[in-house]
Amino acid sequence: MNVSKAIQEPIFKQISEVIENKRQQAFVIGGFVRDFLLKRPNPEDIDIVTEGSGIELAMAIAERYKPKPKVSVFKRFGTAMIKVQNWELEFVGARKESYSPDSRKPSVENGTLEDDQKRRDFTVNALAISLNKDTYGELIDPFDGLSDLQNKIIRTPLNPDITYSDDPLRMIRAIRFATQLNFTIEPLSFEAIKRNAQRIDILSGERITDEFNKIMMSPQPGIGLKLLYEAKLLERFLPELTSLQGIEEIEGQKHKDNFFHTLEVVDNISRSTTNLWLRWAALLHDIGKARTKRFDKKIGWTFHSHEFVGSKMVLAIFKRLKLPLGEPLKYVQKLVQYSSRPVSLITDEVSDSALRRLLFDMGNELEDLFLLCKADITTKNTKKQILFKQNFDYVEEKIKDVEEKDKIRNFQPPITGHDIMKTFEIEEGKQIGVIKETIKEAILEGIINNDYKNSYNYMLELGKKLNLKRKNETKL
Ligand code: ATP
Ligand code: MG
Repeated sequence: MNVSKAIQEPIFKQISEVIENKRQQAFVIGGFVRDFLLKRPNPEDIDIVTEGSGIELAMAIAERYKPKPKVSVFKRFGTAMIKVQNWELEFVGARKESYSPDSRKPSVENGTLEDDQKRRDFTVNALAISLNKDTYGELIDPFDGLSDLQNKIIRTPLNPDITYSDDPLRMIRAIRFATQLNFTIEPLSFEAIKRNAQRIDILSGERITDEFNKIMMSPQPGIGLKLLYEAKLLERFLPELTSLQGIEEIEGQKHKDNFFHTLEVVDNISRSTTNLWLRWAALLHDIGKARTKRFDKKIGWTFHSHEFVGSKMVLAIFKRLKLPLGEPLKYVQKLVQYSSRPVSLITDEVSDSALRRLLFDMGNELEDLFLLCKADITTKNTKKQILFKQNFDYVEEKIKDVEEKDKIRNFQPPITGHDIMKTFEIEEGKQIGVIKETIKEAILEGIINNDYKNSYNYMLELGKKLNLKRKNETKL
């Protein structure tokens, strides 16, 4: 089959000319070919495999452009990358790999295109297109990846037990591609994944996370999460999540399966956001439920303080999976911690102060919290679904009203420690903090308005109560 349509961009002609002069074979391979055949949007990265040195080929191509693009060489992997126009081109010499059992780093020899195709993870990722003059545009498909593309099947080119054991990352990649592309993993392959699941323990957190986050960013991450669970992979790197699985029954009372509920919540939120960390917050929002589960004879199943316990568990998970420990961590902790607060505000008697407090506590994350709460509605009863959603909309509206009136979101208390020291004979220390906090509380409780004048007068009253001496009192 000829697919020269895939390689009409001038960059491919350039490569073709260079290899013609060098009498070297080269091919486009992997994701670019797969996505072209699937009619997916053209990926920006193009992988080129060549029988010979990939690094030298990259350098020769770079010479043809002005200004000459930088060639980034990764000697250890024998690869080189250049950026031309919008493309990121990665060049690699074709290789033959053999693995030892305790490492995912193979010993490597130079090889042919076919050797290189055999070391690829899946038949649909092993498809190559010739860039050589006499066969330009020809599809080279030794493992019938084309049929697998048509039948939407993930299959390994060689024996799956060997492919997965050689590099266990491929097990997560299989699930990643199945999720992204909506493909099925061939049953024999899936059995092999289950058999080799414990091999992922040799992978670093970063490698797992790279692939896992691609699952999380798919249109329906729940597909991949369920597969990871069934393959017994998930329990090896996110045991907190899999321990939510199961339904217990005591005295005829059951609780819901919090694991499968969580998958639904992640799928729900993925329909309204592409924010990876909000999706993570959905993934972890019930994580404290396994540890806090109790059965109370009078009220049934309870999960008291699971939000607080859960938010405390986030750090260990982020560390293990080498997720970023700055803003994203704080954000996920915060959303988990406050995930049930809006529910508790759904009553007719909710006070303005409770609304103000949530507004103050959440700041810019308020809208995300409400998205999470709405995604958390997984009842199959349509009437209830609508009602619950309306309830949240109602609370959100009330908060917006309070916000307009009081300008409380992200507010900084109007009185500073400096103001307090200017007013009273008082040393820097704990008492200043107490006064500031009391003023903030008074604003949130609605005792005084959120402005300087009211806060100043309130501070004077506090000073009196605390018997503080005014500075320069006589002058006033
Ligand atoms: P995308 O970039 O769209 O996620 P891709 O198929 O290009 O998909 P990459 O991770 O960029 O995926 O890898 C490029 C190619 O390298 C793959 O198509 C596959 O042929 C090969 N490959 C990548 N990782 C592995 C691996 N662990 N084992 C075997 N082959 C791999
Ligand atoms: Mg790629």
